[in-house]
Amino acid sequence: MKRKTIEKIPYIGIGKTSRKRGAKYIAATEVKIIGHEKHLIAEVYRNRKEELAVPLVRIVLTKKDFGIFFVQSGKWSMCLIAGSSWDRKYPVWDKAGREYDAKKENVIRSDEDLQRIRSFPGIEEKPWRDETWYELINDRIDTISTARRRASENRRWERRQQALKERAENTPEIDEQEILDYADRVIFREKHYLFYKKRGSWARVACSKCGGVDEYRWKPGISYESQFQRMIDEPRQGGFGICPMCRARGEWKPQGTVQDSFGRTSHIFIGQKYKGTGMVFRYFAVWKEYRMELVGGDNGPVMENACEELSGAEIARVYFEEGKKPQKDYHKQSTWNGKDFWDDCNLYGMANISIDEAPILRETWEAMKGTILQYSAMKEYEAAEGSCINPVDYAERYLQTPQIEMLVKLGLIKVVDNLVKCRYGIVANDHADRVDSFLGIRKEHIRQLIRYQGDLGILKVMKIEKQMGQRWSDEQIECLEELGIDTMARLDLVLGHMGVQTFLNLIGKYAGAGYGTGCSHAVSRLRSVKQTYFDYLGMRQELGYDLGNTVYLMPKDLDAAHQAMVMEFNKKEADARIREVQMKFPMIRKHYRRLRRKFYYEDGGFIIRPARDAGEIVKEGRLLHHCVGGNNYLEKHNDGESVILFLRCVKTPDVPYITVEIRTDDLKLMQWYGAHDKKPDKENMGRWLDVYVTKLKCGLTGTEEAEDAGEKTEIETEAEEERVLAVPA
Ligand SMILES: [Zn+2]
Repeated sequence: MKRKTIEKIPYIGIGKTSRKRGAKYIAATEVKIIGHEKHLIAEVYRNRKEELAVPLVRIVLTKKDFGIFFVQSGKWSMCLIAGSSWDRKYPVWDKAGREYDAKKENVIRSDEDLQRIRSFPGIEEKPWRDETWYELINDRIDTISTARRRASENRRWERRQQALKERAENTPEIDEQEILDYADRVIFREKHYLFYKKRGSWARVACSKCGGVDEYRWKPGISYESQFQRMIDEPRQGGFGICPMCRARGEWKPQGTVQDSFGRTSHIFIGQKYKGTGMVFRYFAVWKEYRMELVGGDNGPVMENACEELSGAEIARVYFEEGKKPQKDYHKQSTWNGKDFWDDCNLYGMANISIDEAPILRETWEAMKGTILQYSAMKEYEAAEGSCINPVDYAERYLQTPQIEMLVKLGLIKVVDNLVKCRYGIVANDHADRVDSFLGIRKEHIRQLIRYQGDLGILKVMKIEKQMGQRWSDEQIECLEELGIDTMARLDLVLGHMGVQTFLNLIGKYAGAGYGTGCSHAVSRLRSVKQTYFDYLGMRQELGYDLGNTVYLMPKDLDAAHQAMVMEFNKKEADARIREVQMKFPMIRKHYRRLRRKFYYEDGGFIIRPARDAGEIVKEGRLLHHCVGGNNYLEKHNDGESVILFLRCVKTPDVPYITVEIRTDDLKLMQWYGAHDKKPDKENMGRWLDVYVTKLKCGLTGTEEAEDAGEKTEIETEAEEERVLAVPA
């Protein structure tokens, strides 16, 4: 459509005599020949005396094309002029709302105008619909744009199909039997089964390898004939035997444990050269199925047949080419006709095909020579990982981050693992060609990092060292890793006032534990003390204390100092909150002694007991930074639905360690947490709690003794309770 030429054509204009009463818009038309082609021009004017010379819009239609010119903005559009479907009776030039009768208010100048539209090539009239002049044109526009969209979709689809076909044609042939043989050898380890059913000294044996079935004696008989009978070793479930028919080795499996069939599915990759320097990874599913048939016999079912079947199917191909994005093609089955086909996009939703780690066929390494993946070190990575890797993810990452080759060759396997899983946060400078600047660590620590195979915890400490402009020894780095240091937060505060070695010694002293012991309890103790110290120091600083003062910097008793800070930090708030919960949840205090008689327990240096009152639960939650002090837990305990218990070290019974919730009706352990919603010394403490809950259920816990000499009796407590409750709020 020659837009510029069309814009130059003078407007048709509406003569005064043509004005219609009551109409809002009037349309006028003409047919012009522009560049040997017939053009229908329809203009819409607002029906006002001063607006009859310049139209609002000019609609231009040819046999196969159209355009809408908005006169005021001077812009062309390819939109519909009357919307689609339900709102089509409202034309685009009217923005007044939808409350009027569009047909009545959008009129055409004369019958000749309407006739011009009706007779224009391509316009189809549907008399039963009583269409307005603009609906007639709109239908035509709709038809033209739909046809265009389809044509462009078709072109795109054809291009994709062509590319798909071209890839398939350039994919080298493969010997599928070779893949199955490899899978049988490497994945299924040529596994066979010997199914058996014993009766007396005899056993019926069915072999999955040869399919033979026969009866054999496994226990020597005493009769003369029995020495001529065929003997086998006694079949034992899970053990291995030799098939007496074909001599294959197989696992004994009792007839009764087999339901018809069973098997295993696995995956396998093979990489091939593709178009010179490219590479295609082909992903196969392979499965081995074992079957055994039973037929009815006089004494129950009898084995008749056994077999095994190995099958496979290619499910995806991923193409890597120089300078191109990786292309993944998927093998699918049509739901229409059941035929297989290849497609260049994945399925949506549950049926999505995923490509996972799997063994890689040896030929791949030979094929990789001379391709863009030749120096990817994928083979070395596979060897370091011990067979199963995802070569597709690896290749994608390598092409994006070629430094991976160097990382693998240095043995920084754990760093590579993270990059392959697309965790790029550890990269400091992705253009760097040296490990230290690539990872953002000091050069002198590379050897240490290699010793740890690129361990992420060690790496994080090294990155912090570099960021903070510190210089730490190998040993200090290991200690900091043990403390679980993974951000600069708080550490910068500490190191602003002391050297790193002083800090390490201090935490070791507070924890009463050494570094590098390899004992999970010691590590968890060190980490929790470090956290407490960080919390403590942070609060000290925020409260405006001078950390240059060693009494503040290194308190004698960290736990006491920490608690003091916590108290001071939210004293006002805290006091108010504790008063509030004591009033609101009085039953916690009231039932304490009764609960203690049931729930109290002490073992291996730890004690557990119920909370004394609501205030104590709030304090526990505050000191451990978790949510047990929230109203829902208090409410459940108060109403007797569950019990909040405190697990602490016998030596430090006043220092919160772990908080436990147990449901009262079935004594189920609902949850347990230490500081910051973490589970300290998880394995050991979890086991301790399991033992506790078991004993609790058997009634082997609880104590009759008073907690301490000064403890009040229940009656006194209740009396006091009433006094507390009587205090007006
Ligand atoms: Zn056999």
